[in-house]
Amino acid sequence: MFSYRHAFHAGNHADVLKHLTLIATLKHLMHKDAGIQFVDTHAGAGLYRLDGDYAEKSGEAAEGILKVLNLKGPAALTDYLEMVASFNAKGSHKIYPGSPFIIHKLLRHEARDRLKLFELHPTDHKSLAGNIQQLEAGRTVSVTRADGFESLKALLPPPVSSSGSRRTCVLIDPSYEIKNDYYRVIDCIQDSLKRFATGTYIVWYPIVPRPEAHDLPRKLKGLCSQAKKPWLHATLAIGRKTGGNDAGLSASGMFIVNPPFTLKPLLNEALPAVEEALARGPGRGWVVESGG
Ligand code: SAM
Repeated sequence: MFSYRHAFHAGNHADVLKHLTLIATLKHLMHKDAGIQFVDTHAGAGLYRLDGDYAEKSGEAAEGILKVLNLKGPAALTDYLEMVASFNAKGSHKIYPGSPFIIHKLLRHEARDRLKLFELHPTDHKSLAGNIQQLEAGRTVSVTRADGFESLKALLPPPVSSSGSRRTCVLIDPSYEIKNDYYRVIDCIQDSLKRFATGTYIVWYPIVPRPEAHDLPRKLKGLCSQAKKPWLHATLAIGRKTGGNDAGLSASGMFIVNPPFTLKPLLNEALPAVEEALARGPGRGWVVESGG
């Protein structure tokens, strides 16, 4: 079984980039009235305690969300901070919402949006199912212990919504503990574009010194150009600590297929402020590029 547990990493710099981008994307998709099917193929436990053993042991939130809390200005950052604040009592920062709870908070009941969650780890699946049960969301949200890549196939194309259109947005956020995950992401995007070419597909990946990580955005760009679909690629690197213990992830990226046109300007505005607040030393930087 995998040993990755997101509780160690919740609220780190990679979650800041991922969740800020996720919220900016979803908010735009929700401007249209038609209902949307959301899929989170690698959901995690859903809610995390920043004052719990896991988070305190790793200290990653201290180098992520806790450093950007007081930033003001960029709209995407404000939306992200308001989202995190909505899970906490005023002025406290004990709870960090994972992607399932972030997406759930944005669902529109009147549009009959749906959320499908997949998580393979038995403990995290149990926590997720328990956390979601408390929402009493009924048929709106489903939680399944299954392989997210495989399960996505049956959900594409998405069902026709009450307004007659098919819409979906998929978050693909594996832990990349095994290098096969890089290949599975590429296969998954290729297959998904065949099944439903107009879906919005959001991929997170770690920027680590291994060829598969380096190749991933390049291969995804290739798939988009073959399918004639627009894409957006954003990265955030917090750099190396000078003198300190430097183990752990220092950079990550988001690749979005069929991104909203509003996403690029929002990230161009937010990422300089986020990078400035999170930067640790040499190697820091951010990029937003798009094509298609
Ligand atoms: N998306 C979550 C968020 O943003 O809050 C974090 C997810 S975490 C990075 C990745 C999760 O995927 C882990 O909880 C892991 O147990 C789970 N996982 C690993 N392989 C999986 C698979 N093939 N299908 C579904 N879940 C998987």
